[in-house]
Amino acid sequence: MNKKKILFLVCLLGFILLLIFALLLFKKDFKIELEGNSNISINVNDKFEPKLKKACYGNIFTCSNVKYDVKGKVDNTKLGTYKIKYQVKYKNKTKSINQTIKVVDKKSPSLTVSNENELTICPNGKIKNYEYKALDNLDGDITDKVEIKVEYDKLVFEVKDSANNITKKTYDYKKEDKENPTINLNGNSDIYILVGENFSDEGVTTSDNCDEDLKDKVRVNGSVNSNSPGKYTINYEVTDEAGNVAKVSRNVTVYNKNVDVTPSEKTIYLTFDDGPGPHTARLLDVLKKYDVKATFFVTNQYPAYESMITRAANEGHSIAIHTYTHNYSYIYASVDNYFADLNNMQDKIKRLTGKETRLVRFPGGSSNTVSRKYTPGIMTTLANELEVRGYKYFDWNVSSGDAGETTSTAQVIKNVTSNLRSSYSNVLQHDVKSFSVDAVESIIQYGLTNGYHFAPLDVTSPGAHQRINN
Ligand SMILES: [Zn+2]
Repeated sequence: MNKKKILFLVCLLGFILLLIFALLLFKKDFKIELEGNSNISINVNDKFEPKLKKACYGNIFTCSNVKYDVKGKVDNTKLGTYKIKYQVKYKNKTKSINQTIKVVDKKSPSLTVSNENELTICPNGKIKNYEYKALDNLDGDITDKVEIKVEYDKLVFEVKDSANNITKKTYDYKKEDKENPTINLNGNSDIYILVGENFSDEGVTTSDNCDEDLKDKVRVNGSVNSNSPGKYTINYEVTDEAGNVAKVSRNVTVYNKNVDVTPSEKTIYLTFDDGPGPHTARLLDVLKKYDVKATFFVTNQYPAYESMITRAANEGHSIAIHTYTHNYSYIYASVDNYFADLNNMQDKIKRLTGKETRLVRFPGGSSNTVSRKYTPGIMTTLANELEVRGYKYFDWNVSSGDAGETTSTAQVIKNVTSNLRSSYSNVLQHDVKSFSVDAVESIIQYGLTNGYHFAPLDVTSPGAHQRINN
């Protein structure tokens, strides 16, 4: 090759390079760079701000930043696919670029299990009731979606959220059952039947955390001779496969309308007339403190306190009828009036306690002579009629005097404690008298330290009848 030719080629190359350089220098365009890829995923609730990593206009050597618009929106609280359009501008030139953002849920729910170091399953392999909670970032509380199963030697808790994220926890377990079965009476725990009436045992209902059916495992002890008056107890006992025992019992009293059953222990029947009233709650608190059961001969004189009848019944006291109105001139004006008044009280007791009562005390007692003023002979008629209608009336054999001259707590205590009987004492007090209610705690303490037994009245209790004088 000659020199001329070489020179020409060098010049040509130089020219081409110059041309390219000039082209590069004058060729201007946008330069746009996304933050991340054109397709990205974010977790629900994660922050996302649409912006460009680079947006400028220029040539390869220099590029000056330009402004850009963002079109479209991403709702990071909702699953979905969102499109964002970035549009860059320089003078009258524009260019745009798209980005697709997928809001997804890849966060697994949280799952907490209580007492996770002491989990047990039933000896027969049944899983028990455990305490646990599952919370999800999107679904909220999904505790009811937790599945529990035994896999080989592990107890597995598993929960899946609506986006199919799974949280799984596995635990060691012991096979053990220390929980007692439950046993509940069908029917009432206290049943009263008249001599000769049929007694049919309604039995019990049982259930257990581990065993399916314990019906055959119930043992019944005791029976009722409905031809022989007395108190009978039927005991029911159930044992589960692991040997845990539960017991319950029922008292059945077979009674004869005309026969009082004298208690075997020396017994105090605390009885309260004329309430409930403003002091009844305080009285119930005292009785509860000593676990002493009493009898309330109730009225409708202070209806604002009627809920105390419900409370007294629920706390094991006997509810009995005194009178609805406590108006002598009305109730002793006729037999019809007396029973209309009594039925009103019975209806109210039934509404408040769910049960009727068979126990009655006449206002003024059966020996009152006030009634003679209204209807001669009415007490004799009423006493007979009550029995015909299935009621038992009670008087008292120990008076606190709180309806008469006695007006002090100390005197009430003295009147009662110094007159207690050796077999049974039916003590008359009025829970509408504050000073009398104040005496109850001392009377109970005296009774308990002197070998007395406290009981509520029932249809077999002695009537403590006084002589009828009208
Ligand atoms: Zn009264």
